[in-house]
Order: sequence, then structure tokens, then C-alpha cells
Amino acid sequence: MNILVTGGLGFIGSHTVVELTANNHEVIIVDNLSNSKIEVLDKLHQITGRRPAFHQIDVTDETQVEDIFLTHKIDGVIHFAGLKAVGESVSKPLEYYYNNLVSTMVLSKLCLKYDVGKFVFSSSATVYGDQPSPLKEEMALQKTTNPYGETKAISERILTDVSQANEGFSVSLLRYFNPVGAHESGLIGEDPHGIPNNLMPFVTKVAKGKLEGLSVFGNDYETVDGTGVRDYIHVMDLAEGHVKAIEKLSSGVNIYNLGTGRGISVLELVKAFMQVNHVEVPYEIVERRPGDVAICFADAGKAEEELGWKAKRSLEDMVRDAWKFEVNNS
Ligand code: NAD
Ligand code: UDP
Repeated sequence: MNILVTGGLGFIGSHTVVELTANNHEVIIVDNLSNSKIEVLDKLHQITGRRPAFHQIDVTDETQVEDIFLTHKIDGVIHFAGLKAVGESVSKPLEYYYNNLVSTMVLSKLCLKYDVGKFVFSSSATVYGDQPSPLKEEMALQKTTNPYGETKAISERILTDVSQANEGFSVSLLRYFNPVGAHESGLIGEDPHGIPNNLMPFVTKVAKGKLEGLSVFGNDYETVDGTGVRDYIHVMDLAEGHVKAIEKLSSGVNIYNLGTGRGISVLELVKAFMQVNHVEVPYEIVERRPGDVAICFADAGKAEEELGWKAKRSLEDMVRDAWKFEVNNS
């Protein structure tokens, strides 16, 4: 297939481009480089042996995106492009609603106009709100606690309505849990601007000595050791999930959790990181972070049953590959 990958130079998008290429799909990347670097294109070439088509455009710009639909034959779209920092979305709600919703509407509108019937969307486990894990796709969604989460819930609704009104337009809403790690080459990975918000990139920067110490947000949750529990998934497993999702897309609206189905606590992750990589990660326990849930992990059964996809990589793989990327890129 010829697949338009929006946000294809970002963290999850770039790893998915590797897997799509390995499965003989032609990739057309669009990205405005707001949270990625052009060098990633060379790294993709190095890893895959092929240079994907790339256009530096903003996916909220309908005229520019239409040019892509006119110049390339497109069979499907995987829409990663979006702003994703939860805290920033609270202080800049309009930027988040505009970027994340207009991009989804522009792309789906052009898919209908140019008869592109396959659409895969990057959603998030955040749409479940605070409900007991394991989280299942059929659970009712709860209001999320920030504009970022709302953009995911609203995008899911837009795509669902558009698909229901247009028989030939099928969508896959992929609810990611906590993507971490990097391609095993260490050439591409997660490279956030500034001080990371998420646990794994924070841990790698502490281990490297770029940040002084990790603050563990709370140790009084009802979990195995009191620290928050999440479903960390290796980004290459996630990438493989996207290939399956677009190749096996059934008609209509399809919703899948992409997680491992296993919860890991903050301290379990930090200890695995130190043990596997033989490095120190100094940490201290601090107050809970507002808005955090205690436990969040997937029921990953539906994706396995319907797509034949299952996360294969271990926590050791995740911490090893995350560290390899940090070491290679600093
Ligand atoms: P990322 O920031 O690394 O990648 C997003 C890419 O989209 C970046 O390269 C950025 O430059 C580009 N982009 C943003 N707005 C754009 C626009 N208007 N036009 C063109 N390009 C634009 O983020 P990621 O971690 O790879 O996340 C990819 C998607 O998955 C996002 O939609 C994110 O919300 C979603 N998601 C991520 C996580 C996570 O933990 N990383 C979890 C759940 C969902
Ligand atoms: N966390 C932490 N210190 C940090 C960053 C995160 O203790 O500097 C904890 C956080 O409270 C949560 C887990 O690590 O329990 C995962 O947080 P992250 O922000 O990576 O993902 P999310 O909370 O969005 O699932």
C-alpha cells in the first residue's frame, strides 16, 4: 500500500515508518518539524535502506495537504501528527484543540474527496479516564482531565461519525498505553525538547547525568510498592501494531488497545533500568502529581484476537533500547 504517515518523523511515527517499509509499503511522510528533526529522515534511510518521500507541511493547512493527495496515490493514512504535552495543553488549550482537531478534520475530508478508505488514528488510554484496569475497548469513555485528552476523545468521535456516514471510510482508533524504548539500532528514539514530562525519557536523562535526580510522584497508591502503575509498551511493538491495524482494517469503526496487558510500577521500571544498564538513577519520593491515576493497564486481548498482534518485547528490552538511544544521541 501507499501510506500517508502524518507526524512520521516523530517518536512513534518514525518507528512505524521502519516497520511499514520492512513490510513493503510505500511511505509518504508529512511533518511540520514542530517536535522532530529533519535528521530523522537520514536515520530512516540508514535503517531501512530506502528514503521515504517527505514533505514539510502542516496538516492543518488544507491546501498543502490536498497537494499531497493530488501528487501521490494514497491507499491509507496513519495520523500521528499532534501536540501531546498534557501540561502544556492546560496552558495553551486553543493551540491543542486547533492543531489536533483541525488536522483530523482536514485529513478525513480529503480522504472522502479522494476515495481513501483506510484511516488509522493515534488515540490514547487517557480517554478511559479513571476506571479500574484492565481497561477494555467497550468501556464507556470518561471526561479526561485536560485539553490534550479531550482532543483524543473528540477526534475519536469525529472519525466514528464520519465513518458511520460514509460506508467506504474505515477507521482504526488505536489507544496507546505508555510507549517507551527505541529502535534496536539506537539511531531513532524519543527525543523530547526541554525537560521531559514522561517517566522513561526523564530516567534516561538522569542516568546520563543531564538531570540531577528523578522525582517519584507518590508512594502511597494502592499498588505493589505504592508507586503508580502503567502499561509500558516497546515502541517497536507499537509500530508493528500499526502495520497490522492498517493491513487488517475491517470496514467501519475499529477500536484497539495497544498495550502489553501488564502493569509495571515506577520503582519496578527504575530498578530494571539500573540493573539492565548498570547505571545509577538517583531518585526521591515526592508528592503525588495532580491528575495522575494509580493504575492504568490494558486488556490487550482484542488486538490479539482480531489483528493477530501481541506485544513481544520485555521490560528489559525497553530499558536497554531507551538507554542505547540516549547514549548514542548525546
Ligand atoms: P511526537 O511529538 O514525537 O510526534 C508527533 C509528530 O507530529 C512530530 O514530529 C511533530 O513535528 C508532528 N506534528 C505535530 N503537529 C503537526 C502538524 N500540525 N502538522 C504536521 N506535523 C505535525 O509524538 P509521538 O509520541 O510520536 O506521538 C504520536 C501520536 O501519538 C500523537 O498524536 C500523540 O498524541 C499520540 N500518543 C502518544 C503517546 C506517547 O506517550 N508518546 C501516547 C498516546 C498517544
Ligand atoms: N512519574 C514519576 N516521575 C516523573 C514522571 C512520571 O514518578 O518524573 C510517574 C507518574 O506519576 C506515573 C508514571 O511515572 O505514575 C508514568 O508517568 P508518565 O507521565 O510517563 O505517563 P502517564 O502518567 O501519562 O501514563
